[in-house]
Amino acid sequence: MARVGIPHTLAYFLYYPFWKTFFEALGHQVVVSSPTTREILDLGVEETVNDACIPIKIYHGHVASLIDKVDYMFCPRLVSVRLHGDFGSETFCPKFLGLPDLIRLTFTKAPPIIDTRIDLKKGKKELESICVEVGSRLGNSSQESQAACKKARQVHRQYLALLRQGTMPPEAMEILLNGAKPASREFPPDGLSIAVVGYPYAIYDPYINVGLLNMLAREKIKIYTQDMLSDKILNREARELPKSMFWYFSNRAVYGGLYYMKKANIDGIIHVTAFACGPDAMVDRLLEIEARRHNKPYLSISIDEHTGESGVRTRIEAFVDMLRYRRDKA
Ligand code: SF4
Repeated sequence: MARVGIPHTLAYFLYYPFWKTFFEALGHQVVVSSPTTREILDLGVEETVNDACIPIKIYHGHVASLIDKVDYMFCPRLVSVRLHGDFGSETFCPKFLGLPDLIRLTFTKAPPIIDTRIDLKKGKKELESICVEVGSRLGNSSQESQAACKKARQVHRQYLALLRQGTMPPEAMEILLNGAKPASREFPPDGLSIAVVGYPYAIYDPYINVGLLNMLAREKIKIYTQDMLSDKILNREARELPKSMFWYFSNRAVYGGLYYMKKANIDGIIHVTAFACGPDAMVDRLLEIEARRHNKPYLSISIDEHTGESGVRTRIEAFVDMLRYRRDKA
């Protein structure tokens, strides 16, 4: 049995249930790093070049925190996660594409890195081939890996179903993987609804965004994200734009934002954007222009390692006050 390390960031928020199920079905132990902390960020900042975006710095911190605890580090090269065509010829940002190389060159004493290329646009059978390759690195047979892949796919479908029902990823994982009960939440009938869009690792990591979702939840605001929308809905939004962007997560944020802007029950849109993110420079501008066109209040929150809770809280409170005032005036 091998101990396989999975960093608690980046693709973790959408694909952890799949890979945890897969590795455990093969008889291995999954070691996930703790949720992001100041120590993890500091470790990452120490190891990364200055101009990297904060998510990549944090990823390095998570890897550093796992190095002595695992036999393998799972750091696949994410190229595409969908069959070509639905979202155009999209891929992941260059930092994602080069992540295994960055980690290998940064951590020369790291355990072997499982850096299998994930490029699902190659065809419907590709995921199974990828699983067989990953399994073979851990000494598992093709048959074992195929069976584990099937099981992981089922769990992934259940996970997506929970997200589509409006459950946030951390809670959906607790329900699915640890048998937790769904939390019951009540919202005032005249309460606000806000769509929060952005990269999963920016929205769902409370350290990186200084607890933005909790701030909204405390105000009894109903929160929507792009991950609650089906691919069918996102694809419909994609078709309304003359051109898609190249990056998968960016496209999801844009299409999700565009969808919610047209909804009368959504009072405002918040875009959580990472400072020094090239793709986000376009995503943010596009969302801002479209929000203006749809007369939908829009707030952009930029995060980096110096982002402070009080600054974000002040902006959120002002935005929420403005939405309430607007609602009262209508
Ligand atoms: S999309 Fe932006 S925030 Fe995400 S890893 Fe790439 S550069 Fe960083």
